[in-house]
Amino acid sequence: MPKINLNELDPEFKHRVAEQPGGEGLKACFGCKACTAACPIQPIDKRYDPRKIIRMALLGMKKQVLESDFIWLCSSCYGCQEVCPQNVRFTEVMYAIKNLAAQEACIPPGLTAQRSLLKKHGRLYEVGEFENEKRLKIGLPPIIEHAEDFDVLLPDQTVEKDPGHSSTFHNS
Ligand code: SF4
Ligand code: SF4
Repeated sequence: MPKINLNELDPEFKHRVAEQPGGEGLKACFGCKACTAACPIQPIDKRYDPRKIIRMALLGMKKQVLESDFIWLCSSCYGCQEVCPQNVRFTEVMYAIKNLAAQEACIPPGLTAQRSLLKKHGRLYEVGEFENEKRLKIGLPPIIEHAEDFDVLLPDQTVEKDPGHSSTFHNS
């Protein structure tokens, strides 16, 4: 567990997570660690520990949770959910936490780059003339980009650094 700075704790954080879709189970955790034992990421990177993330969230360690890079390591395999005796549904809790992190602009650069690609091409890689010619040669239809579909899903946003905290999103 990281060092706790009492002045940085946010007692409302657990309620915010629990209010998110999927975050409802957070407060039911009784710390048995079955999720940690089942998690395939934990043996690879000790910083990623489902039970620890829950304890941090319950303690109000908002900054350390939302600004950490390890919350993005979850592979969404649902192993933790299958073994949990309290139906915490930790995979869903992680989605809730990551959504909050995204709202506060705490997103790793790799995901920001993926977002830009989706906005530009409507997919995670560009399919241009070269690729479509190759498709044509083997009898496949061309792929047409529909990047505009993502204007609704991913509205334009600018990120402003908030001196009191990390950052905030604004729709432009
Ligand atoms: S398995 Fe469920 S109850 Fe046990 S520590 Fe993990 S989330 Fe909490
Ligand atoms: S869903 Fe995420 S937290 Fe749960 S076991 Fe899989 S990798 Fe670990």
